[in-house]
Amino acid sequence: MSYKYHMPTKVISGQDCILSNSELFKRFGKKAMLVTGRASAKKNGSQDDVIQALQEQGIEYVVFDQVMANPTIACTYQGAEFAKQHDVDFVIAIGGGSPMDAAKVMALLARQDIKEENLFSGPHGDDVLPIIAVPTTAGTGSEVTPYAILTNDVIESKTSLGPESLFPQIAFLDARYMLEMSVETTVNTAIDAFSHAAEGMMTVRASLVSNALAKESIAIFTRCIPALREAVAKDDISVLDLHVRNDLLQCSMLAGIVIAQTGTAAVHAMGYTLTYFKDIDHGRANGLLIAEYMKLVEEEKPQLIEDILAALNIADLTELDALMCELLGEKEVISEDEMVKYIANAARINASKNNSQVTPSDDDVGAMFRKIFGL
Ligand code: NAP
Ligand code: ZN
Repeated sequence: MSYKYHMPTKVISGQDCILSNSELFKRFGKKAMLVTGRASAKKNGSQDDVIQALQEQGIEYVVFDQVMANPTIACTYQGAEFAKQHDVDFVIAIGGGSPMDAAKVMALLARQDIKEENLFSGPHGDDVLPIIAVPTTAGTGSEVTPYAILTNDVIESKTSLGPESLFPQIAFLDARYMLEMSVETTVNTAIDAFSHAAEGMMTVRASLVSNALAKESIAIFTRCIPALREAVAKDDISVLDLHVRNDLLQCSMLAGIVIAQTGTAAVHAMGYTLTYFKDIDHGRANGLLIAEYMKLVEEEKPQLIEDILAALNIADLTELDALMCELLGEKEVISEDEMVKYIANAARINASKNNSQVTPSDDDVGAMFRKIFGL
């Protein structure tokens, strides 16, 4: 079997890893732009650690803290303007997938004049500002992928770009930043990570290396299931201690390396529809869809599903379905009109995506959506 494996990001993991490696910032220049969401980075200690490390190294910084969840294209152009105005040398993304993805596009647009209509088509040159990533959620793995996923009103969904130049140079992984994260965000992001690993195995680009990483990522997710269950049942984050948080962070990073090689499969493609129209959180959307999609894959590729279930230590897809329902709680109410629109949108997006070993037909997409939402 032929495959490529490429992962140029230096991963540095451990408590206080930013402060104990502050000298690494120096090689990227004299002025940094921090890219964050509106609030969390200021509260969870990550922004303070980055600023202290920069100050220790005599590096100036500016902060762009206007990235919203599911970032828009406009936000990335604003951030790029800000980077140009302040003449920054490199970008430090601090936050969940939204700030990390937006920061990547800002790093690209700060160095290259790309019209909005050409943003997703490329190819783009290699000239981008260096990117350093500090994930503060454990889900997207964006710290080790070249992907940036933006809300795209033209196709009423989300679109990704991922030239190799957008791999972060360094990813700093410190689970302490996640200690106060809500049960809901923890569960949604953990399921996103699981979905990356499982979907990676279900893509046409799955390889020896990506499958090995995916199985390890899923095994770590499995280890965290009892704590996730308890946190949901009690609506209490105290069981999600530093040990569990670190497991989830490693699970997410490994799954990120998987999708950096394989891309995602039909679950993500369909999930974007739910996020775009119904504002369903990214990881939650994947969690709602994954068991149903795996049932479809099982019909053609039973061994593949058996391998994923073995890594999960779960007997069958009914059990996986029950686990997702338990973790995600009550499903959204979707009207018949909404359903018709979503199915048409998801089928259209999906048809253009041939990355899955089992590509659902339009009828399959309709049947899955209806079954999941009971319509
Ligand atoms: P997110 O949209 O980055 O953040 C969700 C929420 O969590 C925000 O309210 C954020 O607050 C908060 N938050 C972040 N860190 C926190 C912490 N440590 N404690 C408490 N709250 C915290 O969510 P995400 O799930 O990480 O990222 C989703 C995005 O990533 C989507 O756009 C998705 O398409 C994309 N994605 C990218 C890849 C990739 O490979 N690049 C893969 C999968 C998904 P603030 O806004 O205040 O920061
Ligand atoms: Zn995802």
